Amino acid sequence: MAPARSLAQTTGVCPVSLAPDLLEILVCPKCKGPLEYRTTPPSPAPREELVCKACRLIYGVEDDIPIMLIDEARHF
Ligand SMILES: [Zn+2]
Repeated sequence: MAPARSLAQTTGVCPVSLAPDLLEILVCPKCKGPLEYRTTPPSPAPREELVCKACRLIYGVEDDIPIMLIDEARHF
């Protein structure tokens, strides 16, 4: 079915909206280590987030602005 295929194509691509040079200078505010940029699955809604594996913290991104606050980060 054409509609299902086109839907899979559009939802399977997650364009990186954050500038690459911005990502390069972003570090974890807690350990000053590198962050991994990723997007969550498209269901229920795709979200961008920055992950510090050393601290096991996930920093959210709202309106293309990373929320680099330890208090706002989520543990995983
Ligand atoms: Zn960290």
